Amino acid sequence: MESGRPQLDKNKLSLLKSIVEEIPPELELASIEFEGPFITIYVRNRKALAEHMTLAQNIAKKVRKRIIIRVTSDMRLKPHEAKAKIIELAPEAGIDPNSMFFDEALGEVWVKALRPGYLGGKVRAAILAETGWRVVAQRISPLESKTLREVTNLILKQASYRLEFLRKLGERIHRDVVVKNNYVRVTALGGFKEVGRSAILVETRESKVLLDFGINIGALGDPNKAYPIVDLDSLRLDELDAVIVTHAHLDHAGLVPLLYKYGYRGPTYVTEPTRELMAIMIKDLIDVVRRSGRYLPFSEKDLATTLIHTITISYDEVTDVAPDIKVTMYNAGHILGSAIVHLHIGPGLYNIVYTGDFKYADTRLLPKSHTVFPRVEALIMEGTYGATLQEERQKAEQRLVEIANRVVERKGVMLIPVFSVGRGQEVLLVLNEAIKEKKLPEVPIYVEGLINEVTAIHLQYPEYLNKRIRDLILEGENPFIGDSVRLIEGEMARPDIVEDRPCIIIATNGMLNGGPAVDYFRLIASDPRSALVFVGYQAEGTLGRRIKDGAREVPIVVEGKVEVLNIQLEVHSIEGFSGHSDQRELISYVKSISPKPKKIILNHGEPNALQALYTLLKSSKEIRQFATSIYIPSNLDSLNLTSQ
Ligand code: ZN
Repeated sequence: MESGRPQLDKNKLSLLKSIVEEIPPELELASIEFEGPFITIYVRNRKALAEHMTLAQNIAKKVRKRIIIRVTSDMRLKPHEAKAKIIELAPEAGIDPNSMFFDEALGEVWVKALRPGYLGGKVRAAILAETGWRVVAQRISPLESKTLREVTNLILKQASYRLEFLRKLGERIHRDVVVKNNYVRVTALGGFKEVGRSAILVETRESKVLLDFGINIGALGDPNKAYPIVDLDSLRLDELDAVIVTHAHLDHAGLVPLLYKYGYRGPTYVTEPTRELMAIMIKDLIDVVRRSGRYLPFSEKDLATTLIHTITISYDEVTDVAPDIKVTMYNAGHILGSAIVHLHIGPGLYNIVYTGDFKYADTRLLPKSHTVFPRVEALIMEGTYGATLQEERQKAEQRLVEIANRVVERKGVMLIPVFSVGRGQEVLLVLNEAIKEKKLPEVPIYVEGLINEVTAIHLQYPEYLNKRIRDLILEGENPFIGDSVRLIEGEMARPDIVEDRPCIIIATNGMLNGGPAVDYFRLIASDPRSALVFVGYQAEGTLGRRIKDGAREVPIVVEGKVEVLNIQLEVHSIEGFSGHSDQRELISYVKSISPKPKKIILNHGEPNALQALYTLLKSSKEIRQFATSIYIPSNLDSLNLTSQ
């Protein structure tokens, strides 16, 4: 035992003992390391390990920890030898030999293949037996994501730093719990009685965890409204155990890099797609703010530091993030990779479910949000649409196709401004399917902006989508990009595109406050044969909102000069494509969640939306029976959840 270090505590010792008991001697155990939330077992006999491919799973079940088994580095083939061997062992996978990347620190080889399914099962075991390397298979996508490549390269380049980071973190997560007597306190730092800068601090006597850390881009000019209310200098970031981000939207993830700028070097836990989507969204935020000459308190460097410290977890995996806190992420149905976060605190002390943004209804893209948890005492739930009933999705889809048909008949242009994540992909699915089923003539669908990068990430993670779309992608189809779709990259002339009539244009940004959508709008605004169709929320103060509210003459800035647009095209607004639960779905979620929470905390909504929701929840006899307290906290309010 090193001097100055506390004795290995009893819990840890008995944990190690019960792991060692499970390892067959022929594997030749070399060491057991705590690497972040994972426990990594290093063995020397790769052939014997390949005979025990389910061992890690079995041990994990027994000790309730995430277990990885690796071969020690001296027992692995040299990368160039391993490369040839892997291609030889998996002839059917369609491996791209130039894409193979060896992570020497973790003993993993990242392989891109046309049919990654052929790199699993027996082939995976054979590769491990012959080379000592663990395969991480990725799909060669019909639409390659630049961001995915950049993020992967960045993380692999920092592999040895990451291993060091994980080992330090592993020691920290598995530290002794000194104080057994505990409390659970939740503090609202942003996104309470408002939408736009979600942040919640959860504290126990032992640990501190941050749930989301968003930015309100609508209020960028005013730091008092744009950022969560927290003094980073005094927060003592070295005491923070974990940041957990529910999904990639900027109002939940956008300010995480600022924590790293202020010196935080702990982990940020996200699902895999959220990591890449976050990178896309935040990078775009940096670009947009820079171009407009406004101020953002962090840079690309801080984003890179964030990405190096992310740890991805899949849905339904229980992960230790602090000595007394286990986190599990579940499908939230809101956007790709979005999660409802379950916190299990202390040994049976308390359980919190934080919904983040969620949709309690099936969409074209995702199954509806998860409802069953091991235990729930407190539910923190968003209430964005607490006062609104949305149009049924099926009707919304029908209306979209009807409008498209009318525009096509008139030889006009249909412009659909979208946000890059979520609705854009759904609209593409609806239009492609309508064309396939001959409910809409084959007209060109032009797609421009970040949405293409984001669609590529969707194709990379079919397992996060609903079964129908997943199966299509696994069969080698691209349901987002039908034969009629034209992806616009670079400086293709927009005036030419609007003359290719009739056509449909899908472009970012969704509220017409920037991006190519504004340019297209300017080109067709005075054409009565064309139509503008909103499919998402239009925030106050945006051009989209003014037009939606009926403005027919709007000033617009073109190359530094103000131009007044006379709007003669048709304007439609379809509400049914929302990724948020509406009032009915919110109430129904509270009734369906199992087991039942005693406390309900409402956030992420304008005060009137939350109040309407509160009144409805209170008036339900069924809900009153289990939910004894319902709160609408303000920012900076703290609640001690363990007190009665
Ligand atoms: Zn969101």
